[in-house]
Amino acid sequence: MSADDLLLFSKGDAASMMTLLRSFSTFSKRTGLNMSRGKSNAYFNGVQAGLKQEILQISGMVEGSLPFRNFLWDRGVDFIRSPLVSWEKACKPTTEGGLGLKNEVVWNRAAIGKLVNHIYIKGQNWETYNPPTNSSWYWRRICRVKTLLSEAYEQDLWVDQHYKGYTIAKGYDFLRDKGQEVSWHGLVWNKWSVPKHSFFAWVYHHNNMNTMEKLYRLNISEEDTCLICREGKESRDHLFFSCPYSRRVVTKVGEWLGIQIPFYDLLSWRLVATGSKLRKGVVNEFINACLYHLWQQRNQSRIDLTLNHPCTVASRIIEEIHNRVMAIIKQPIKEKDRSFVSWIERRGRSSGMNVDGNED
Ligand SMILES: [Zn+2]
Repeated sequence: MSADDLLLFSKGDAASMMTLLRSFSTFSKRTGLNMSRGKSNAYFNGVQAGLKQEILQISGMVEGSLPFRNFLWDRGVDFIRSPLVSWEKACKPTTEGGLGLKNEVVWNRAAIGKLVNHIYIKGQNWETYNPPTNSSWYWRRICRVKTLLSEAYEQDLWVDQHYKGYTIAKGYDFLRDKGQEVSWHGLVWNKWSVPKHSFFAWVYHHNNMNTMEKLYRLNISEEDTCLICREGKESRDHLFFSCPYSRRVVTKVGEWLGIQIPFYDLLSWRLVATGSKLRKGVVNEFINACLYHLWQQRNQSRIDLTLNHPCTVASRIIEEIHNRVMAIIKQPIKEKDRSFVSWIERRGRSSGMNVDGNED
């Protein structure tokens, strides 16, 4: 997945740049999406030369020039894109289909709740406290947060299961928009999956990829045909379950892993994940890796007009799954999983990770 149009803004000083880079590093660990600093540019406005140099040194970026401004504000064809998944969705917990990121506005309100409740009016009743009329405007505004939180109080007690009092995390959980639990979160976020595969599987489950069918619907593309096979409309289901190319890749990987895949939809793929947690984990990673690499091929055929042979892609997927399993089993594993793990290990040693090119 290429994210070549990511823009991050910060105040023009060294401390803000460090904070921005630290936050991005947390994001990278979570999603597996990394920044190529050599290919990234920094843009400045009203920053002194010395400070500019310091920021460039810290970030490892080069300074960009400003045709960029036109790109940003012109509403050309390339700019009309819908985001893969909205920020609101990304801020939900992973169990509710989000990335578990914090909504900073809501977090800030919850933090103000702590400030007001535990520091400034400690010992007084939260419910009945009113800021004195001669208090400053900002204190009166800060105290308004209690109206948002008041439903969670009985008298001056924060109501939760254990009556252990207010914390910012509890306040945040109370104030945030809650959603339904999604059935697929365990499929996406588990220790077996490589983070970049998990991240793409997350986008897949939200069905927000810019497939040709969607781009056509939005009048961004003049055609909706599958870029790989040129036979069907490129919908999500076609791309991953009906496209002859995808079937060849998935079948090859399945053969190597000793798994037969029914092609109806992803949930039916899950049905083959029986047995121990480890077996289920490997099948989950198998699904996520296939989704990721098929989408990569689709993007490659759109951008470079090239496509790898299905066996090459299958070998790449097998290698990644194999490496992941080998890395994880360095941790203690259960007795019942030993034979499966040594089977994968032996298979990797004897047959290698390559699959042959004699397809049906
Ligand atoms: Zn196709």
